[in-house]
Amino acid sequence: ALALTGCGRAETGATPGSDGGSAAAAFPADAKIGISLPAKTSENWVLAENLFNKDLSAAGFKPSVQFAGDGGAPTQQQQIDAMITSGVKVLVIGAVDGKQLGTQLANAKAQGVTVIAYDRLLQNSKNVDYYIAYDNEKVGELQGQALLDGLKDRKGKGPYNVELIAGSADDANSKPFFEGAMKVLQPKIDDKTLTVSSGQTSQSQVATQGWDPKNVQQRFESILSANYKGGKKLDGVLSPNDTLARAAMLSAKNAGQSTPVITGQDSEKESVKSIAAGVQYSTINKDTTSLVEKTVGMIKDLQAGKDPATTSTANNGTVDVKTLYLDPVLVTEANVKTAYKNDPDLDAIANGK
Ligand code: BGC
Repeated sequence: ALALTGCGRAETGATPGSDGGSAAAAFPADAKIGISLPAKTSENWVLAENLFNKDLSAAGFKPSVQFAGDGGAPTQQQQIDAMITSGVKVLVIGAVDGKQLGTQLANAKAQGVTVIAYDRLLQNSKNVDYYIAYDNEKVGELQGQALLDGLKDRKGKGPYNVELIAGSADDANSKPFFEGAMKVLQPKIDDKTLTVSSGQTSQSQVATQGWDPKNVQQRFESILSANYKGGKKLDGVLSPNDTLARAAMLSAKNAGQSTPVITGQDSEKESVKSIAAGVQYSTINKDTTSLVEKTVGMIKDLQAGKDPATTSTANNGTVDVKTLYLDPVLVTEANVKTAYKNDPDLDAIANGK
């Protein structure tokens, strides 16, 4: 009775990429699919809601997309439980807190529901079947390198004064973002090319609870008044996303600083406009349309009884989860005009139309 139960993954022996012609359908073609998203902390989540509804309906499925919103992890737990009770065949989860859904994932497994972690890895559970995301550590590396390149381009020779921002500690992505960036930046802090005057350089010191821009503004107000007095310049800021980048730029402006070289992520409209105008230095393009399309492709494979193709694995603390990583793309003023050819709205913004 002490034996571990099997890891219960959905694959049934079909090889990735096989045409699965003979595979039996795993569930009805009009099945309910549950999409559980965190809070609307960036435009990508809102876009994902619309795209999942559209693409899943077009494929014949019955989508139910819900946001945990301000209710956080407890609300997300309840929503997922209700989705399982309602008979969903696949759960796509962008977790508020990847460590808080263990009971729900075990439940899902017991009911034969396949679980796909979307954008954020589900941690410390064996009951995760697939993970799909843009490569998060690569995102961080691109941000770290962009900060260095931007400082050189815009501020000339160093040394430079910089401050660091990380995402919410409960989001599994915050660590790979920060660690990816610090791989590039730590050696430059060590050799004194970069000075962090606040002394705040660990992920926990620079984390932003709930990805809430108000928290960045508060932190930056106190850093700027304590550490950048008497005309001392803040040259650069590592920001993990666009929302927080705009908050830090606002704080800098309110403190009488010129715009620091600042990174971002998500290609939010306001930030793409700012990059085209030469203000925000960079963002990352993680095209939500492709991410949702590929996720829906996985669901179609599962429906047909096929094992979706993956490109690598991600260790979630308990198991290696089959993973499909997409490639994030750095966008700066140098490539902004051509970076959004697949997105008419952003393309128009980038080209001032
Ligand atoms: C996503 C980012 C986003 C952040 C805040 C992260 O998990 O990967 O794209 O900026 O959440 O919404």
